[in-house]
Amino acid sequence: MTTRRKILIAGGGIGGMTAAGLLLQAGHDVEIFEQAPALGEVGAGVQVSANATHVLRHLGVLDQLAAISVRPLRTEFRLHDTAEVVSQIPLGDTHEDRFGAPYLHVYRPDMLRILEDRVRQLSASAVHLGKALERYEEDKQGVALHFADGTEAHGDVLIGADGIKSVVRAQMHGKEPANYTGNVAWRVMVPAEKLPSDFQPPIFVNWMGPDKHMVVYWVNGGRFLNFVGCVEKPEWTQEGWAIKAPWEDMKADFVGFHPDVQTMIDAADKDSCFCWALNNRPRLNFWSTDRVTLLGDSAHPTLPYMAQGAVMAIEDAAVLMRVFDEFDDTTAALKAYEQARIDRTARIVNESSEHARLFHFQTHEEFREAFGRKDPSKDRGLWLYNYNPLSVSLTAQQS
Ligand code: FAD
Repeated sequence: MTTRRKILIAGGGIGGMTAAGLLLQAGHDVEIFEQAPALGEVGAGVQVSANATHVLRHLGVLDQLAAISVRPLRTEFRLHDTAEVVSQIPLGDTHEDRFGAPYLHVYRPDMLRILEDRVRQLSASAVHLGKALERYEEDKQGVALHFADGTEAHGDVLIGADGIKSVVRAQMHGKEPANYTGNVAWRVMVPAEKLPSDFQPPIFVNWMGPDKHMVVYWVNGGRFLNFVGCVEKPEWTQEGWAIKAPWEDMKADFVGFHPDVQTMIDAADKDSCFCWALNNRPRLNFWSTDRVTLLGDSAHPTLPYMAQGAVMAIEDAAVLMRVFDEFDDTTAALKAYEQARIDRTARIVNESSEHARLFHFQTHEEFREAFGRKDPSKDRGLWLYNYNPLSVSLTAQQS
């Protein structure tokens, strides 16, 4: 390490916690401020591919996480009603051999808990809860953070890892409402014992149909089947981003889907169905000033259709760790971070939006034809999963 810095992080989600752990491990003085009185993640699944699990290994948490996660054998893209497989991505050993790190299906609360434990192990006093950042000031000497409870914190750098409703982004770029993408996501977890014992092997299945698709995978060591049903609803006007919604509405959304999909929906707890409005924001031309930068959803929120939002936040954290190691000058470090990340993250965000079309064709023929042209396994191997944020060049634009 060149210069030991005092680094302040706003937001204790997957991105902020990973950054805190990596930067503490690299020898910096780090404090992380989370607005909620307790750390927590939504009780759902998250997929993490090699481009993130390299980083989790470097942080020393991969084995622990892998032990309570599921290592899927493959992804299958299926037609929603006939279950015909139109394309596959081999995962399991193939992914690990090819990209050098595993692909995991993880229960989000497990992941955040393991990251938090690692941060607290590195510094018992780094995590501050109930600290909602309201605004910051920066000058040549440093940054000052002002919290809703009237307290302040001072440091050399601020990382805004405060999610899609980021106050750091709003102060840097001006306040603007998030854009509703016209898509909602049903998120449900079904306990394994509620399903037939031979229900689905450890694979990721994407059931694709007209204007909607449903992705399904096991998490938490196979104790829960996680499903996310994404539906185009341009007329959605519900208040709030994640609301409890009637099971009957979810059932109606997937009429005509395969009997396996009906089995899962029927096994869901009728009082635990949540519907999320999927939002995004315009691409930023820059996301760093002299002493302040953004990370994760605050910088580049995305539709979840390539399962890369949390993965990008983890990649960001690794590249930030490296630039702080390489550059004595903080402004130069933040510029290098932004340059290394801005095109790659924009590409992932754009391709994820394009997947809304790829997954929602009207006819079987359109799906077969589109997947015949674009083989996701080959395509993702060439630029997505083969990116290692711990070794990628920091000087060239990476995309
Ligand atoms: P967040 O997780 O939003 O964390 C931000 C944190 O900042 C929160 O704890 C918040 O309370 C805190 N905060 C906010 N404001 C303040 C403030 N003013 N002061 C202090 N703290 C503040 N990604 C994947 O990689 N793989 C997947 O399989 C995947 N599946 C998804 C499925 C769905 C349905 C959805 C909606 C998303 C999915 N994602 C997936 C995306 C992923 O969830 C996000 O990209 C990721 O969680 C972003 O992490 P983050 O740390 O940047 O932000």
